[in-house]
Amino acid sequence: MDKKGSGTFVRNALILLILVAIGLGVFAFIRDGSPPTLSLTPESNVASFNTDFTLKITAKHIGLKSFSASLSQDGKRVDFLQRTFTDKPMEHTEVFRLPRDAAFKEGPVELTVVVHTHSLLSFIGRGKTSLVRKLTFDLTPPRITVNQGVHNVNQGGSGAVSFTVSKPVARVGIAVGEDFFPAYQQKSGDYFCFFAMPYDMLPSDFKPRIIVRDLAGNEATQTLYIYAIPKDFKFDKINVPDNFLNDKMPQYSSQYPQEQSPLDIYKRVNRELRKQNVGELRRVGLDTANVPLWSGPFLRLPNAAGRAGFGDQRDYFYNGMKIDNETHLGVDLASLAHAPVPAANDGHVVMAEFFGIYGNCVIIDHGLGLQSLYSHLDSFDVAKGADVKKGQFIGKTGTTGLAGGDHLHFGILISGVQVSPVEWWDEHWIKDNVLKHLNKQQ
Ligand SMILES: [Zn+2]
Repeated sequence: MDKKGSGTFVRNALILLILVAIGLGVFAFIRDGSPPTLSLTPESNVASFNTDFTLKITAKHIGLKSFSASLSQDGKRVDFLQRTFTDKPMEHTEVFRLPRDAAFKEGPVELTVVVHTHSLLSFIGRGKTSLVRKLTFDLTPPRITVNQGVHNVNQGGSGAVSFTVSKPVARVGIAVGEDFFPAYQQKSGDYFCFFAMPYDMLPSDFKPRIIVRDLAGNEATQTLYIYAIPKDFKFDKINVPDNFLNDKMPQYSSQYPQEQSPLDIYKRVNRELRKQNVGELRRVGLDTANVPLWSGPFLRLPNAAGRAGFGDQRDYFYNGMKIDNETHLGVDLASLAHAPVPAANDGHVVMAEFFGIYGNCVIIDHGLGLQSLYSHLDSFDVAKGADVKKGQFIGKTGTTGLAGGDHLHFGILISGVQVSPVEWWDEHWIKDNVLKHLNKQQ
């Protein structure tokens, strides 16, 4: 390479170096100034002091420095939240409520959130993002007016109430102890709610309450004075023989690989899996139509003898030793082996699968949280999603799951809580306790 050539090379290399440096500089400059993204939920445009806002801040390349939130109304501005970060986090989530002490009145307010990153040029406003949310401040709780409903319920039975709410709601239903039964708005605009009086609740503890939360988070409650009629439940002894365990436990052994003996598997199935299934029923209970799909009394398996009742207190014995105690939460009906099982009423199939202790199980939704359950089926002829008519055969009785002999375990559920099916076979009970309150809503 001659002198001239080497000069050109050095010059070109220098230009390239400068270009690379400029490129890197531009790249760093863009990265440094990249603003974080913000999301604020709920997205609703009404709020109260009870609204739990969740602010999610995500930085892109440069860590977070600070954020602040302010609320303004009619020219008055209050800074109510400030955070400064020293560890330059790339993400931050903040849950907050609006300030009570600032004495804002009902009406329009403006919520502003401003976030800064550790951008080198933050003093000229780089790496800054803000979010402005125009809200209507609503501090008036909804008003509840009970229209009609039951005056008494049976322990372990069902009840129904209809009521009116003065404004749109985010959550509405009846709380009974730990259980919450959603209410469903009917064509009339009124809400209709089925609820249970749990079999294991003392009648003196039965204090159902309507709970309503509006879109802004204001809550109202109203206690219902409904008399709970105590019921005596039967005591029953169940012997668990070895041939039952040897026959039944292989279907569950893969779920409890650490257990060696069929008896140990059984103890866990009867207790843990039963409990787990009860929890899953609560979720299935929410998969419901918001209008009644059924009419008239529910069908009972034809020509069947009752073998066990709802609420039976069962002590389980193995070789004379008590190994467990559980409550039977359906009715056992025995007919001929593999007897065809009719749908108890019109509805929509929300489960048709092998389901824990229930074996092959079909659950039909009848709307408003009311569902019927058919278990230990030998086989089923319907699939999840199918619409069925009252009396339509949905499967055959059998011994799948924890069934000792061929029978149908029939259950009724209210928002996933098991209740006595007997009431639902009784036309008079339905008329007096449900239709009287429901028909006026249609
Ligand atoms: Zn049963």
